[in-house]
Amino acid sequence: MNQPTHPAYEDPCLYIDGEFVAAEGRRTQAIVNPATGQTIGHLPHATREDLDRALAAAERAFASWRHSSPMERSRVLRRVGELSRERAQAIGRGITLEMGKPLAEAVAEVVNCAEHCEWHAEECRRIYGRVVPPRLPNVRQMVLREPVGVCAAFTPWNFPYNQAIRKIAAAIGAGCPVIIKGPEDAPSAVLAIARMFRDAGLPKGVLNVVWGVPAEVSEHLIRSPIVRKISFTGSVAVGRHLASLAGAQMKRMTMELGGHSPVLVFADADIDRAADMLATFKFRNAGQVCVSPTRFFVQEPCWDRFMERFIAKTRQIKVGDGLAPDTTMGPLAHARRVEAMGQFVEDARSRGARIETGGERLTEAGCFFAPTVISHAHDASMAMTQEPFGPIAACAPFRDLDEVLKRANALAYGLSSYAFTTSTRTALAVQNGLEAGMVNINHFGQALAETPFGGIKDSGMGSEGGTETFDGYLVTKFVTQMD
Ligand code: NAD
Repeated sequence: MNQPTHPAYEDPCLYIDGEFVAAEGRRTQAIVNPATGQTIGHLPHATREDLDRALAAAERAFASWRHSSPMERSRVLRRVGELSRERAQAIGRGITLEMGKPLAEAVAEVVNCAEHCEWHAEECRRIYGRVVPPRLPNVRQMVLREPVGVCAAFTPWNFPYNQAIRKIAAAIGAGCPVIIKGPEDAPSAVLAIARMFRDAGLPKGVLNVVWGVPAEVSEHLIRSPIVRKISFTGSVAVGRHLASLAGAQMKRMTMELGGHSPVLVFADADIDRAADMLATFKFRNAGQVCVSPTRFFVQEPCWDRFMERFIAKTRQIKVGDGLAPDTTMGPLAHARRVEAMGQFVEDARSRGARIETGGERLTEAGCFFAPTVISHAHDASMAMTQEPFGPIAACAPFRDLDEVLKRANALAYGLSSYAFTTSTRTALAVQNGLEAGMVNINHFGQALAETPFGGIKDSGMGSEGGTETFDGYLVTKFVTQMD
């Protein structure tokens, strides 16, 4: 185990109508470093008045931001991209302190997101309408795309920077103000984003940041007639709840929810390469990734070879404080995730699976859980049916393509999926057969700025990124005119 450190931390605040607002008597909540268990700061909760001020500011801002030039929006987004690169080290450090991921991963999260800003800066200049050929010569028919209005965004703690910037860049690029409630346990990245937009010249009120009890804040914002669209990233259960609130108010929504991604390793694959790549990818961010590979189906002829190498690679992972330079996996973000991991392991064991490595909490202090490989996991076990959202790889053998597709598609999740094969025929069958919003074959190539990211089935609706990115933030207006 790497040793923890004790760095300085600046108390977070709210950001409403272009002003950073400190606690000043408001209710606060402690922010805890999961590597040490120590409180590092206090976060103010927004009062109802604060939320109403944010709503009013966003409504005022919409009146002018909706008519802003795409060139102006593009300039702001591009500048934020530049600032992300300049400020990545400091922002990354805040992320590591709050939710534990290794510093290199946190800094990479920020740097990579500069591309999201640049992509939205470019694409927002291409929000085109179209002209529809008329039936009469003196008629002109046009399809216009207009910003939907004030958006409320709710983002989680696992990628506190990435999840927030993707929603903010899409809303702002489309001409919509945003009120964002980021993760209360890891707030500094969202505030860093607010500072960058302010420094890039975004008019006040276009971006507002609030915190509080998640259910109270989201309900207040969603029920407000000012909010016209919501975007949420988080669990399926919370997504369903927010979708029902938004549905009752006839509001648009984008939902990026949980996954339980199958990995299909076929016997004709480059097995060593697959095992090495998967052991690294699986335990990134301690497995707290919605697209983390979680259900490993390994074809029988290559089971022994794959498992041996995958387990050996997993044992090499260096767990510790994310600020220590040689750490490759940090703590889990909260004590509740550690508890959940214990339940997954106990359930697997009770159903006859083997815990090949890990399977236990590592220290009393901090939220450390060992990278865990479960073999011969039963298809009905918790680890094979519920999203683990942690450092657990549940593995089971399979015989043939039809069988594995059926097992992979058996759950209501449909976010990401992975397959390793050298057969083009198998690759094609997998592309066509997997019920998932994203299919990765022989590599991990998703979540790029220029490609759509999103799930199907219970894993959500709508896409972030790609040319689809503004779809959720625009409404269609048909105009017909006769002279
Ligand atoms: P959780 O369900 O309590 O919270 C998940 C996220 O949703 C948090 O950021 C939380 O602040 C937010 N949230 C919860 N209730 C809300 C509400 N009523 N309104 C608005 N936001 C709300 O679970 P958790 O223990 O924090 O995280 C574990 C689970 O969350 C995992 O099982 C995983 O499915 C899910 N999760 C998914 C993602 C993702 O990228 N899709 C990210 C983080 C967490």
